[in-house]
Amino acid sequence: MADNTATTRTVVDKSKSYFPLAGLANDGWSTDDEATATCFCGAVQLSFPTHGPGFVGSFICNCSDCHKLTASMHATNFTIVDTHLKHLRGRENLKTWGQSQTIFVKTPGADNTMTNYFCSTCGSLMYRVGAAFPGVSILRVGSVDDFALHETKLRPTMEQFTKDRVSWKLPTEGATQFEEDGLHKQ
Ligand SMILES: [Zn+2]
Ligand SMILES: [Zn+2]
Repeated sequence: MADNTATTRTVVDKSKSYFPLAGLANDGWSTDDEATATCFCGAVQLSFPTHGPGFVGSFICNCSDCHKLTASMHATNFTIVDTHLKHLRGRENLKTWGQSQTIFVKTPGADNTMTNYFCSTCGSLMYRVGAAFPGVSILRVGSVDDFALHETKLRPTMEQFTKDRVSWKLPTEGATQFEEDGLHKQ
């Protein structure tokens, strides 16, 4: 049997940059001001600011759309102002798919289309763009190469659509809770 005792585990100090094996690319980086996000196959790489004004915030979304499009129980997202989002490589490799039957249908007649931008080689969802969120792109914390940032600057401060959260998942510690849309209320 495998030995799972705590004494045999390697403890990672995530207060410092930490780039584990995560996909084929090994050229992700972070500085005091910026960091990269890369798809699983490495074809697409973005860079973004890790603090304001280009960095808006990080949040958990439990909505029913996010269940489907992550094939999991929630999405861990962060919002970047479009003028601060850089495509370092692979922009031509991004495929888009959008539809308007989203959870953000609030105003009758309004365009509620949300569009996914994903790597056409490996399928990694890199960001979403929504008519209800002009001027920003919603990226995915899990695609950020420096895993230390998942614990620090990109740690979610807001959690939304808690009404759709599965009963076996706890509220995220330290995140302001919203039963439905929190993005337009912050
Ligand atoms: Zn890819
Ligand atoms: Zn969602």
